[in-house]
Amino acid sequence: MSQEASQPASPYKLFDVALKAKSPLSPHLWRFTFEGPQVGRMATLAPDQRIKIFFPTPQGRPPELVGTPDWYARYKKQDVATRPPMRTYTIRALRAHAGEVDVDFVLHGETGPASTWATRARPGERLQIMAPNAAFEGDAGGYEWKPPQGLRRLLLIADETALPAVAGILEELAALPAPPITELYVETPSEDDAIPLATWPGLSVEWMPRGLEAPGAKMLGAAHRAALPTAGSKAAPVLAEVNVDEAILWDVSAPGDAGFYGWVAGEAAAVLAIRRLLIAERKVDKNALNLMGYWREGRVLD
Ligand SMILES: Cc1cc2nc3c(=O)[nH]c(=O)nc-3n(C[C@H](O)[C@H](O)[C@H](O)COP(=O)(O)OP(=O)(O)OC[C@H]3O[C@@H](n4cnc5c(N)ncnc54)[C@H](O)[C@@H]3O)c2cc1C
Repeated sequence: MSQEASQPASPYKLFDVALKAKSPLSPHLWRFTFEGPQVGRMATLAPDQRIKIFFPTPQGRPPELVGTPDWYARYKKQDVATRPPMRTYTIRALRAHAGEVDVDFVLHGETGPASTWATRARPGERLQIMAPNAAFEGDAGGYEWKPPQGLRRLLLIADETALPAVAGILEELAALPAPPITELYVETPSEDDAIPLATWPGLSVEWMPRGLEAPGAKMLGAAHRAALPTAGSKAAPVLAEVNVDEAILWDVSAPGDAGFYGWVAGEAAAVLAIRRLLIAERKVDKNALNLMGYWREGRVLD
């Protein structure tokens, strides 16, 4: 028996991948298809499944992490000046049988290692991905899309970084016999960044090109307009402060009422403002909301 077969499978696994193809979905959102000998053993558990991607070192060497159980402690000990940068992305589609995984990258300019790599990348270039391990028998986690059974009303507010997850969420819902009444608001860099999405009669979609406005301003405007459940008579809970310049904003729902569920992701300061509006002012049950800062303007948070 091999050593791997005799060990219990770990929830996550490090995959060596090579870029197979890249193609535009819109001016700022591009699909990257990666392939690798082990990708058949990757798993994805929800449409917002997050993964960690390791990019070439600042010196241009492909990442060469070793996927031992202590990989993270060893990674953190490496000098930031020479270690492969790590960023968080979403599995848009996994074709395990074909050994392929799609990730949709926002090209936001050559301002960070991920977007710089994505802008310049050519097929054949090697990266590494930390993703759920199909051999793990439990729930590997790494996703927040957990709508209550029989959900009746859904609110989705996102920017372009969360559009890959939203596209997957809509595909999942459109396949249900009775999808929930859904309002979707998507802020994009430009009006040409709207992409085709799965649909059904109870879905309304509003594309919100940002133009010259600050990232997230349109998302906050949408939260003001969105249809929300009637506020209860209870006082709104006191919200713990989050400094989005130093910490990740990550408020996740608890399984609950099927009447309403909200999933909000995008620029962190905007999501923080939406959190205040929905929970403190509009008294939406915080247990019915996922509020996630996917990036922070002017900061590197990973
Ligand atoms: C759970 C989760 C899932 C995500 N899924 C995806 C995904 O599928 N696709 C995707 O493209 N992104 C996704 N993101 C966002 C992505 O991790 C960030 O945008 C990340 O900062 C990109 O890294 P970078 O190296 O390009 O820039 P960084 O080095 O992190 O930042 C450099 C500069 O670029 C700015 N910046 C970062 N992102 C953006 C942006 N989108 N627009 C404008 N300026 C930006 C920063 O504010 C900073 O000033 C996800 C994030 C999370 C937390």
